[in-house]
Amino acid sequence: MEEKNFVSDSTLYLVATPIGNMYDISLRAMDVLRRVDFIAAEDTRVTMKLLQRLEIKKELVSYYEHNKKERGNEIVYRLLAGESCALVTDAGTPAISDPGEDLVALCAEKNIDVVSIPGPCAAINALTLSALPTGKFVFEGFLPVKGKERRDRLEFLSKEERTVLLYEAPHKLLATLSDLCKYFGGDRRITLCRELTKLNEEVIRTTLDTVVSLYSENQPKGEFVLVIDGAVSIKDEVSVTDDMILERIEKLISEGNSSSDAVKSASKEFGVSKNTVYSLYLSSKQ
Ligand code: SAM
Repeated sequence: MEEKNFVSDSTLYLVATPIGNMYDISLRAMDVLRRVDFIAAEDTRVTMKLLQRLEIKKELVSYYEHNKKERGNEIVYRLLAGESCALVTDAGTPAISDPGEDLVALCAEKNIDVVSIPGPCAAINALTLSALPTGKFVFEGFLPVKGKERRDRLEFLSKEERTVLLYEAPHKLLATLSDLCKYFGGDRRITLCRELTKLNEEVIRTTLDTVVSLYSENQPKGEFVLVIDGAVSIKDEVSVTDDMILERIEKLISEGNSSSDAVKSASKEFGVSKNTVYSLYLSSKQ
């Protein structure tokens, strides 16, 4: 594999940093942080700790939501003058749910080269752990906080057939899970990924109504990514017949599964709600 181990002048480097585990920093990320002229960071205190750990001394400037316009122009000015800059976020990949996207757009507008140094990203980490379909997915970042905008987004997403990825803060988690339950239905599958790559990493693969009960009783702590199964398409739903479901249940029972396990498996396999499959099974027995 050919390696490109130098830093070019007048270039913005997007450097992914760990989302919890320091060992996830890449050799290339360290090299670029060492070689650039300066680093733009979302929170300079957070980045200072990382740099101290890596024994890197470098000029740090802050670049975050509330100074992105004016600071973005200053960074571009320095890049046009020949300096190189690394952009880092508090954790993960810059430009994913943070103001990095504006700086990249500004650089593109000014024909400044941008190089992305790949590494940790909470959304992708969660998707790979979800045990839900990964072939087609949609990343939504944070949902709008309230009002019509939030309701419209939830309504729209409830019909999304691809796996849906969301970020959420712990103090808003229960409200978001309850809304998801209301719009998507309680039996929709969800994988909740908490504190990824950290000591208390937890992956809960269950349904929306179960996580709502769980966090109604326990206060959510830490950082979360929500991975939600896509909606079953109407096309798929009509192609599944009652006979197909019943045949599958009988087969599973004949293989030694309990009727309740057989109903659960058939519900998952055909993407039809557990309640529907259960009622179908009960009426077939009458
Ligand atoms: N740029 C980051 C990335 O690449 O993942 C995301 C930044 S976004 C402002 C922060 C959100 O990412 C958190 O609210 C949480 O939803 C998610 N997140 C970040 N680190 C996480 C972790 N270790 N475990 C679970 N979720 C995490």
